[in-house]
Amino acid sequence: MYKELTIAQRTIMTPGPVEAHPVVLQAMTNRILGQFDPSFLEIMNEVKEMIKKPFGTENKEAFAVDGTSRAGLEAALIALIEPGDKVLIPAYGRFAYLLGEICERAQANVSYLEKEWTAPFSPEEVIKAINEFQPKIVAMVHGETANGQMQPLKEIGAYCREKDLFFVVDMVATYGGVELAVDEWCVDIAIAGTQKCLSVPSGLALVTYNDRVEKLINSRYQKELGLSKSDRNDRHITSNYLDLSQLQRYWNSERINHHTEATSMIYALHEGLRMLLAEGLEAAYSRHSVNEGALLAGIKAMGLQIYGNRETKMPTVTPILIPENIDGESVREEMLHFFGVEIASSFGELKGKIWRIGNMGYSSRKENILHVLSALEGVLMHQRASIEPGKAVPAAINYYQNKTN
Ligand SMILES: *Cc1c(COP(=O)(O)O)cnc(C)c1O
Repeated sequence: MYKELTIAQRTIMTPGPVEAHPVVLQAMTNRILGQFDPSFLEIMNEVKEMIKKPFGTENKEAFAVDGTSRAGLEAALIALIEPGDKVLIPAYGRFAYLLGEICERAQANVSYLEKEWTAPFSPEEVIKAINEFQPKIVAMVHGETANGQMQPLKEIGAYCREKDLFFVVDMVATYGGVELAVDEWCVDIAIAGTQKCLSVPSGLALVTYNDRVEKLINSRYQKELGLSKSDRNDRHITSNYLDLSQLQRYWNSERINHHTEATSMIYALHEGLRMLLAEGLEAAYSRHSVNEGALLAGIKAMGLQIYGNRETKMPTVTPILIPENIDGESVREEMLHFFGVEIASSFGELKGKIWRIGNMGYSSRKENILHVLSALEGVLMHQRASIEPGKAVPAAINYYQNKTN
């Protein structure tokens, strides 16, 4: 016989998934509602309004797509792309290549603007590439979780708008942890996820888009064959499941019959958003920034080096260079085994070179920061790494005391 599940006790300090907020977990245990039940529709309507606030938008459209964040990225891109459309991907990390991969599979003509992963682009570099390639769409990542760098978007967005291009931005790892301004930055479609700074389990993606996008996707709308045999559209979006033109009509008063909504996940999302707004966006951003400061103080006191440009570092991810002669994976294993603390490695060209410590959502708490610092120090000492012993935790505590005095 199989035993009942017992879930290990963990402190999750990766850049996602993070610990879910206890209020969120409790919300998920509620009874099921049908997806067209008026009392469920009320929940959806509130979710719609709440999603907009951390994005910094007054867009009419904002809703959840079932599937993890990359479902939202794919839905956003294929809503705009028709075969042969030119897409420019300025890539300063792993997730930009995911955007490119999605566009290539959607038969776009993709051009990558590439650089070292240690810093994001200057607006001039992107603007020059736009002028050379003349794309229909520019797709970028706001916070590159793979290397902990964050791209300033305002000038690039303004230029895209001036040239009448679509600007698509992955805000998965910054939504809820860093101030966003979708409208001011002229972002046409923005995408976020649930398992990062929202402290909700993974399984939904959040999207918002403006009327420029809405106009385009409405021109591609096709009613499902089982609902109508006459409304065919030559330019329909290539996926049924990830078709924003249908999803929009499911989330709006039309309430077309599309998928069966994951109602328990929507309860979770409602509570994750509600807790974030109850804390206050400003307060949440400053909590992330204070916890980042304490983490950095501890890491530096230990004598470890931070990867990448400091000015453009994401507050929600801290990439640390793995010291020479130390096996990064064995450090991660020991941290998990002895301390129950999980940190992340990285991908692609950074694999084996850096660790990444997440500072996101409900995991972004003082006790978690101190726990991850003591675990890292303890394991590094056990592995005889040359670090400054005994300094990390006091440095972090001092940082907190100076911040709150
Ligand atoms: C986590 C992450 C994703 C992918 O999210 P999934 O929920 O795993 O699909 C995409 N982009 C960025 C920047 C991320 O941090």
